[in-house]
Amino acid sequence: MSKRDYYEVLGVPRSASDGDIKSAYRKLAMKYHPDRNAGDKAAEEKFKEAAEAYAVLSDTEKRGVYDRFGHSGVGATAGGPAGFDPAIFAEFDLADILGNMFGFGDILGGRRRGGPQRGADLRYDLEITFEEAARGAETAVQIPRQEHCESCRGTGAAPGSSPTVCPQCRGHGQVRFQQGFFTVARTCPQCRGAGQIITKPCPECRGAGHVSRERKITVKVPAGVATGQQLRLAGEGEAGAAGGPSGHLYVVVHVQEHEFFRRDGLNLFCEIPVNFTTVALGGEIQVPTLDGPETVKVPEGTHTGTTLRLRGKGMPEIGGRGKGDLFATVQVKTPKKLTKEQRHLLDQLAKVLPPEKFEPRPREDEAPDERNLFDRVKDMFG
Ligand SMILES: [Zn+2]
Ligand SMILES: [Zn+2]
Repeated sequence: MSKRDYYEVLGVPRSASDGDIKSAYRKLAMKYHPDRNAGDKAAEEKFKEAAEAYAVLSDTEKRGVYDRFGHSGVGATAGGPAGFDPAIFAEFDLADILGNMFGFGDILGGRRRGGPQRGADLRYDLEITFEEAARGAETAVQIPRQEHCESCRGTGAAPGSSPTVCPQCRGHGQVRFQQGFFTVARTCPQCRGAGQIITKPCPECRGAGHVSRERKITVKVPAGVATGQQLRLAGEGEAGAAGGPSGHLYVVVHVQEHEFFRRDGLNLFCEIPVNFTTVALGGEIQVPTLDGPETVKVPEGTHTGTTLRLRGKGMPEIGGRGKGDLFATVQVKTPKKLTKEQRHLLDQLAKVLPPEKFEPRPREDEAPDERNLFDRVKDMFG
C-alpha cells in the first residue's frame, strides 16, 4: 500500500511553517473527528492519517528526516539491540498527541493516560578518534536514566500491598461529562488516568515506580562510522510507565579530526612531503595509511601536486567489505639549511641545468586554481 505524502495529507506546501502545519492539522482533526463522524470509517482513516502526518511534520527532527528520506526514513523498523540504524525512527503516540491537543486521551484505541506508556528516548553524544572510526570500537558509556523500581516491580505500591481501584473513575482512568454536543472524556483527576490508586507507596521509589540510576552501557561502534551518524540501542532508554516498554538510547557519533587525513565519504586525502631529488630521479616514499606506513614508488620526473592513489586504503564501508581509497598528493620539499657539501653539489647541478624558459602549460592549469587541494583531487579522479 502506498502512503500519501504527509504535506499532501495536511494540504500544506513543503515550505510550510510550524504554525501553518499546526493550524492545517487542527482543521482536519476537527473535521474528521470521530465524535462528529460516528461510524464513518473513511473519516476515521482521514483522522488517523492527519494525526500521523502531524506527528512527523510538527517535530523538527522527524520532519528533516522525512524531507530527506520520505516515509522509509520515519517508518517503524525492527532493529536488533545495539544495531546500526542510519535513520531516526519516528516513535509517536497518537493518543498522546490528541490528548495534548483536545484533552481526549482514548480516541484511537483506548490507550489512556496513566496506562502503559513507552519510556522516553535518550541521546548520548560520543566522541571517538579517527582511528576508532576506521577500525570500529567498543566503549562503555555512563548513562543516567530512569529504571523500573526493583523493590515494587514498577507498580509504585509498597511490597506486600497492591494498588486499589480508583473510586472516582472506577478503574476507567477517565471521567465523562457533557459539553455542548459532545461527550467529553477527561483524564480522571484522582488517579491521573491510571485507574488505580496507591494507598501505601513503595518506600524505595516513593510510589513513582521508577528510580534514577547511572548505568554503564557498552556501545559497539561499527568500523567506518562518520560524524553525525546515530547508533540505536533498543530498549536502553528510560523505563516505560505502568508496564510500557523502555525507550531507546541513541548514541550520536562525533569523529575527531585527523592531524593528517581528510575524509570524504569512504575516501581519504593527504599531502606527502617528498625530497626534490626523489621526484626528479624517481624513488620510493613512505605514505602513512590507517594500517601503517606503505612504500609507494614515485616515477622519475614527478611534479609537485601529483596525486597517488592507494586503492583500498580508505575508510571501510559500514557493515560491508568495501573500502575507499587513499589519495596522497606529492608536495616537493625545498631544502632550507644546506650543508657545505649539499650547496656544492647543487651548484654543480645548477651549472649543467638548462636555463628556465617560459613554456605555456595546458589550458586547465592556466588560471591559478583557487580551489583547495581536496576539491582538485576529487575532480581529477572523479
Ligand atoms: Zn518502588
Ligand atoms: Zn480514577
